[in-house]
Amino acid sequence: MIEFHDVQKYYGQFHALKDINLEIDEGETVVLIGPSGSGKSTLVRTVNGLESIQNGSLIVNNQDLSSPKTDVNRLRTDVGMVFQHFYLYANKTVLENVMLAPRIVSHIPEDENRQRALSLLKMVGLESKAANMPSQISGGQQQRVAIARSLAMRPKLLLFDEPTSALDPEMIDDVLQVIKKITSDSAMTSLIVTHEMGFAKEVANRVIFMDDGRVVEDDDKTEFFRQPKTERAQQFLSKII
Ligand code: ATP
Ligand code: MG
Repeated sequence: MIEFHDVQKYYGQFHALKDINLEIDEGETVVLIGPSGSGKSTLVRTVNGLESIQNGSLIVNNQDLSSPKTDVNRLRTDVGMVFQHFYLYANKTVLENVMLAPRIVSHIPEDENRQRALSLLKMVGLESKAANMPSQISGGQQQRVAIARSLAMRPKLLLFDEPTSALDPEMIDDVLQVIKKITSDSAMTSLIVTHEMGFAKEVANRVIFMDDGRVVEDDDKTEFFRQPKTERAQQFLSKII
């Protein structure tokens, strides 16, 4: 589903991603962790073409992102992304937020779109808020709507960049439960940046640890949490847990 081959990413002179080689298969749930500034967001953003790469090749859902011919908009219909800050349309209802992309991009019949949006809202526990405006629901609820919205396009791959780090503590768990539900669907491939180690332990098949623009460890979840191989990852874990 995702293949990085010797990928380099620069912001001007700054070398942000160094020699990235990674393969993520369909159905995997991969958690990406590492210190601030290590390149996690940058890496995730390259996967849906929000950041360009300068060297190497990056194939996502059989499309080559290193080729200028690739249609990034088409790619993004298969790749959903959920950010730390949820950008819901403030002047549209919760239901409209979820219905918008399928209507514009996939032209699906209005009734079918509505039914699907309502069932997604039900899945995230917010069917009763369908008619509310985003400002009338809590931050955690807004993030769950953002997740429902990204699922509305039926993506094959979902990217999460610290989906709970802007939320009040009491709202985090509901959002994590929703993500857990989605990732347990074996067909979905997910790449999740998170600082929630308990959650990472629960949902991940695999853990990638980054430091200073490099992938330093890429392990099976159980292996990683039992005993990270590198001292850098051991230090990181001892501080965060
Ligand atoms: P955090 O945990 O704080 O979110 P991160 O691992 O997601 O950190 P990135 O946001 O990927 O880190 O940033 C990696 C490095 O690239 C940092 O040193 C950052 O300052 C730099 N960087 C990120 N975006 C830009 C940009 N648009 N222009 C220049 N440098 C950038
Ligand atoms: Mg980040």
